[in-house]
Amino acid sequence: MIPFNQLKPLHDLLADEIHEALRRVADSGWYILGPEVEAFEAEFAAYHGAAGAVGVASGTDAIELALRAGGIGAGDEAITVAHTAMATVTAIESTGAKPVLADIDLETFTLDPLAAQAAISERTRAIVVVHLYGQPADMDALKGLAEKHNLLLIEDCAQAHGAEYKGRKVGTIGDMGAFSFYPTKNMGAYGDGGAVITGSREYAERLEKLRNYGQTTRYRHQSRGTNSRLDEMQAAVLRVKLRHLDRHNGRRREMAALYDANLRSVTTPAEAVDGRHAYHLYVIRDRDRDGLMATLQERGIGTLIHYPIPAHLQESHRDLGLPAGSLPQTERAAREILSLPLYIGLGDDEVMRVCEEIEKLRG
Ligand SMILES: *Cc1c(COP(=O)(O)O)cnc(C)c1O
Repeated sequence: MIPFNQLKPLHDLLADEIHEALRRVADSGWYILGPEVEAFEAEFAAYHGAAGAVGVASGTDAIELALRAGGIGAGDEAITVAHTAMATVTAIESTGAKPVLADIDLETFTLDPLAAQAAISERTRAIVVVHLYGQPADMDALKGLAEKHNLLLIEDCAQAHGAEYKGRKVGTIGDMGAFSFYPTKNMGAYGDGGAVITGSREYAERLEKLRNYGQTTRYRHQSRGTNSRLDEMQAAVLRVKLRHLDRHNGRRREMAALYDANLRSVTTPAEAVDGRHAYHLYVIRDRDRDGLMATLQERGIGTLIHYPIPAHLQESHRDLGLPAGSLPQTERAAREILSLPLYIGLGDDEVMRVCEEIEKLRG
């Protein structure tokens, strides 16, 4: 039996360090916005070479608050993709802005810059680009577009911790980078968490107020905010995880290379020439995806689809007015994609077994 994912092997490996960190917080008597969050923010900013990092309660909040810090709200439009976690779309909507969904490049599964350009209207104020599966999007083209039309550029890095574009860490190329620390992400907490990184001290200061009721100093409010804080326990866990991130991403890339070398009969994921993929997910394409998935399940191999229904075809989002057929590459991806097991603790022999089962089926 090879499950699609499991966290226990990873957390067993790190148990000593993580338990020490959790005990330190438990014993400290300080649980919200304290020394662990401050240290984590400094370490996460330094890892990226960013001016600031601000911890928040989730990846969804990171996107929403980044947009709000950038002045996006009701009446504005923000361009993003339908081929993403629903959170990207709902985060835009939480600001009062309207998400405008553009098609993807099927090879990289990320926002197609030409489709983004075609989606620009006089209300467009932002682009939220998603580095889906850990694959950096075409940032030169998107940054050029954002600069030309004076748009805020937010990077949704929820699946791309440590991924690089032309040697730069994702999240540092646009105006702000939004991260999720949901447990299964490349860098996961022991609960919910998120962060925004930015090169602008001004955005960082706005974010610090936004996440804490809009407070400037205790009980003084110059602007409206909310409660969206990373807690001390999660920050302490994340400080441990950050120390292992590059090594873990290296192992992810090793497993991806093993899949690449041993899968012949399905379409393996392309790595963009300018990108260093973080392989949050290893996603193949196949014309008989449903058949493949069912047979692998029978043989004891877990797989998942990220994501089976694009945002514009969800029941909740019919009012976006994008009928089936309006985003052809997105819809084709949703029909053909399959995510194979890839996690820390999965052995090379298990990767090989998945490859053998797929090739046996197809060979
Ligand atoms: C996980 C994820 C989010 C949301 O993060 P949460 O921490 O679950 O709120 C947003 N965007 C993408 C692409 C994600 O994978």
